[in-house]
Amino acid sequence: MESKGKAAVMTAPNKDLEIVEYPLPKVERGCILVKITCCTICGSDLHTWLGRRSSPVPIILGHEIVGEILEMGEGVTYDSGDRKLQLGDRITWTIMDNCGKCYYCREKGLMMKCRHLKKYGHDSCANPPHFVGGFAEYCYIFPGTCVIKIPDQLQDEITAPANCSLSTVAAGLEAANLEPFENILIMGAGALGIYAAAMASRYGCRQIIVTDVLDHRLKFIRRFGATETINTRNLDEREVIEAVRELTDGFGVDVTMEVAGVPSLLPLGLKCLRVGGRFVEIGNSFPNATFSYDACDIVWRRLTIIGIHNYDTKHLQMGIDFFLTMTRDVFPFNDIVTHRVSLGNINEGMRIAESGKAIRIAVLP
Ligand SMILES: [Zn+2]
Ligand SMILES: [Zn+2]
Repeated sequence: MESKGKAAVMTAPNKDLEIVEYPLPKVERGCILVKITCCTICGSDLHTWLGRRSSPVPIILGHEIVGEILEMGEGVTYDSGDRKLQLGDRITWTIMDNCGKCYYCREKGLMMKCRHLKKYGHDSCANPPHFVGGFAEYCYIFPGTCVIKIPDQLQDEITAPANCSLSTVAAGLEAANLEPFENILIMGAGALGIYAAAMASRYGCRQIIVTDVLDHRLKFIRRFGATETINTRNLDEREVIEAVRELTDGFGVDVTMEVAGVPSLLPLGLKCLRVGGRFVEIGNSFPNATFSYDACDIVWRRLTIIGIHNYDTKHLQMGIDFFLTMTRDVFPFNDIVTHRVSLGNINEGMRIAESGKAIRIAVLP
């Protein structure tokens, strides 16, 4: 076996990632060493790379990862769906490694906010085991991570982006208590929006309205269950609200989900809700995304605002085990990865991601 592996390391924001070699770690009890076969570039990788949010350095970014089991520590037996794990199995895993014992893990059901949280693609890679992010040849999985064996019929490129985007959307729709026949407004037609539209259509929503400023994205998302799309580029706020009301018998939508990461969309999305509507905020996952709003409207119209950051292990399980497997022939998930780069060409991939041209870019070691 190789004794070293390559990783693309960020040493400072706005600087090209550098290919660095690290020694492969000794695999401890409960841990797994994975040979990465695919990692997709998430919007949050881009936020970190562009310095929109602070991060430790050096760091290996990338958390939408799939790979094959190369080595298993003592005590690793089953995945979180009780399927036996063996060398060579294709797996994916939650973005977080949580302790299962702290106040948030045990008492509040918020394992993604564990007090001893580790997150793949978010922590420094300076010390062993080094391989703690997806833009690399290997990844070292800690014992508190939920590992899922990938069903044979799901290709790597379909599964990788589901890891973060699909699971987060699943957590958001669950938190919003979305019900059949309800109307939803999805603000943003990137990967999160695509999964939200597809899931909402499986929930049995009546109107699935999507807004964005890019026509090609709006056209694309219609293939994932969106019933109506609105390009808001040249519309003022009042025109958008009117268009949404017209599509919902004059009431407004039951649920708005913001997945574009644009702070000014919060006031607009709140105004598009019916009385008693629920707003799910996912997109603005970097600091200083401020907005101003008339609190009286929230009170008088009985609105609810829910923030969703990451997800529970069950959402990854749901997303991959059930949703993708069940709907892979219904929606063209194969087309979500629009660009591919090798690990050595990752900087080109990051620039394509920045340009907004791609839905998802796969980094293939
Ligand atoms: Zn992500
Ligand atoms: Zn914990």
